[in-house]
Amino acid sequence: MSRVVIVGGGIVGLSTARAFVKRGFDVHVIDQGPIPHPRGASVDRHRMIRPHYGAATGYARMVAPAFEAWDRVWDDLGEAHFEDTGAIAISLEEGDYAAKTLASFREAGLNHEVLDRDGVEAALPHLTLPEGAWGVVAAPAGPLFADRIVAGLADWLRARGARLEENTRIARVDPERGLAWREDGSEISGDHLLVAAGAWLPGLMPEHHGEAPAYRQALLYVEPPAEYVQSWREAPAIVTLGDATGYTLPDRRGAGLKIGYSAHRRRARLDVEGFESDIETESKIILAPFAPYFREIEAYRPIRIQLGYYILAPERRFRLVAGGRGLVVTDCDGQMFKFGPLLGERIADMFEGRESPQALAHWAAGH
Ligand SMILES: Cc1cc2nc3c(=O)[nH]c(=O)nc-3n(C[C@H](O)[C@H](O)[C@H](O)COP(=O)(O)OP(=O)(O)OC[C@H]3O[C@@H](n4cnc5c(N)ncnc54)[C@H](O)[C@@H]3O)c2cc1C
Repeated sequence: MSRVVIVGGGIVGLSTARAFVKRGFDVHVIDQGPIPHPRGASVDRHRMIRPHYGAATGYARMVAPAFEAWDRVWDDLGEAHFEDTGAIAISLEEGDYAAKTLASFREAGLNHEVLDRDGVEAALPHLTLPEGAWGVVAAPAGPLFADRIVAGLADWLRARGARLEENTRIARVDPERGLAWREDGSEISGDHLLVAAGAWLPGLMPEHHGEAPAYRQALLYVEPPAEYVQSWREAPAIVTLGDATGYTLPDRRGAGLKIGYSAHRRRARLDVEGFESDIETESKIILAPFAPYFREIEAYRPIRIQLGYYILAPERRFRLVAGGRGLVVTDCDGQMFKFGPLLGERIADMFEGRESPQALAHWAAGH
């Protein structure tokens, strides 16, 4: 039986493990922490899936196949950890992200609906928008319940005999030769080796990825004013509100209402900065850009900060580095969760020789 070794038990590692288990491989996943690791980028109450991608039409086109891959995951897990709330990008000025998204939807022939300002405020009555604002809505889109997904995948894998080795840090890898070494020096070898170490990659492979740009991002869970609890729950997820704010994910299935301010992310090494946050200071920074648009913003109560790290390259495209027996997945940005299962299936295709590494890398880069 062919053997695949996977370093990293986040959405990329677990999705790839699932694809290999289904093809009859002997699968061994190793993580430095528990699986799922609460500090991994894949662990939070929710992550968004939406076809809105600004001018990056290649990624917009990948979202429908990504949903098909999620459907296969739900079939395996026996439950769909997703709610179709739809998603909206709101335009505040010419040529902004929402405007680029609309042009891209038209070019790609993707279903959408355009709402004028009154239409947006009717769908999202907790917002007050300037004259000339409009929105582009598309579905299916909305929250993927990330922590339930990764926990469900880990249980599914264990039940099917995959080996999930927890609390074991890999000190060194040689993807070309399909080798990894634990901190105690013991060696693990596979016919195939996948490195899916998220933002820890610079520390694991300093010679090749030491300069990979890692970013710290903090998201804020809030309790909205009582008057708007229901409308926030029922409204589409906001992909972006102009270009200077960020996004929101609705409180479905008890996940909580979450707000992200895009420009709040900053370059940082997780081994240096860690996971500390001062909620009083950070919540003010995250909410401030939304102040002109949220009704009664002073009544929003910060509840919790969720911290995460990702590698984000300037060109903002996922990068797959293949060679010999190995593959390294990097530059996943704040974007990979939605594509995890689809990528996992295609990585298994590549290792089985059904797709060339070049074609897979080209596709993952959104071309
Ligand atoms: C704040 C934030 C918001 C995001 N929002 C979205 C969103 O709305 N939609 C979306 O699609 N995507 C989103 N993303 C991106 C998405 O979550 C990530 O791209 C994705 O989860 C990356 O998965 P991964 O498996 O590559 O990495 P991770 O989930 O980080 O997993 C890597 C794993 O490798 C393990 N590991 C690392 N080094 C070693 C080692 N040396 N030895 C053993 N184990 C090791 C780690 O412990 C970890 O468990 C967001 C990310 C963040 C941080």
